[in-house]
Amino acid sequence: SSYHKVLEENRLLYNQVQDLKGAIRVYCRVRPFLPGQQSNGQSTVDYIGEDGNIMIVNPLKQGKDARKVFSFNKVFTTNATQEQIYVDTQPLVRSVLDGYNACIFAYGQTGSGKTYTMSGPDLMTEETWGVNYRALRDLFHISKERADAIKYEVSVQMIEIYNEQLNGLNVPDACLVPVSCTQDVLDLMKIGQKNRAVGATALNERSSRSHSVLTIHVRGRDLVSNSVLKGCLHLVDLAGSERVEKSEAVGERLKEAQHINKSLSALGDVISALAQKSQHIPYRNSKLTQVLQDSLGGHAKTLMFVHINPELNAFGETISTLKFAERVASIELGAAKSNK
Ligand code: ADP
Repeated sequence: SSYHKVLEENRLLYNQVQDLKGAIRVYCRVRPFLPGQQSNGQSTVDYIGEDGNIMIVNPLKQGKDARKVFSFNKVFTTNATQEQIYVDTQPLVRSVLDGYNACIFAYGQTGSGKTYTMSGPDLMTEETWGVNYRALRDLFHISKERADAIKYEVSVQMIEIYNEQLNGLNVPDACLVPVSCTQDVLDLMKIGQKNRAVGATALNERSSRSHSVLTIHVRGRDLVSNSVLKGCLHLVDLAGSERVEKSEAVGERLKEAQHINKSLSALGDVISALAQKSQHIPYRNSKLTQVLQDSLGGHAKTLMFVHINPELNAFGETISTLKFAERVASIELGAAKSNK
């Protein structure tokens, strides 16, 4: 019966989830050179191994001093498809339907491909959809498959955190909106974009300096036992991680940069405190970590896509991005890797 099918599926899923439990997974994605850049297509990425290693070369140095290796759960090459990026994330997304909480982050400097990974370049083309829409499509699909056994309700919430202030995008007070298919969510996105009171260029500029969080809440009632489970998935497109030259930043720009630095380092602190199983987890140090508190730590699972821009002039940012990512991954990486 379909109920037994659900149980069996849950058991398989549970095993996969056990593999992920407590582990912070870090995946690295290298953006391809964009059409206009191909003429000088020399890359800081020297080598990408199937073992999750990436070797970066410093264009200003020679010999073995010029090379540095960073190690993650996985490194995706420039030709990885949106589908391939999503596949490993699927069990984590699906676990939300069993009552787990999860967070998926996109980290990297502006222009490294964070929005490409999370949203995709074109909402009208399903093949190019990013993690957000693939996750929603999956959640709706599975909840329909399980409809005989469990009645699910899905709702979404879209917020932006800009200068430590929280703004709801789809509705003024950032409340939950019930949705029943991916199209509902696409429609909401359009409203959200209209609600941002800025033009297209300004929107791009600003979105690179704000964290955008799409939260999917799932509530499922078991039709046999009547028990209720709740899960939630946060999909977070982080503000650009680039350091701002002190001399360049004044006024509004300086304030933005300080808020971004503060919240990204607060996120790093929380994740590494969790990994070290510290007594005190410093959630309260930023709006971002406060918003995500219930989905970071405990039984919640965290995954971070770290984005690399392979251009030579991005070398400095690439190294600082990879160092941040290594710090986030460090403690649990050994355990996570031995699961492979
Ligand atoms: P970010 O969100 O980090 O600022 P974007 O996602 O906007 O960066 O990417 C910057 C540019 O690079 C965009 O034009 C985007 O379409 C392109 N791009 C990013 N990642 C890829 C990729 N994997 N394949 C092809 N183009 C990409």
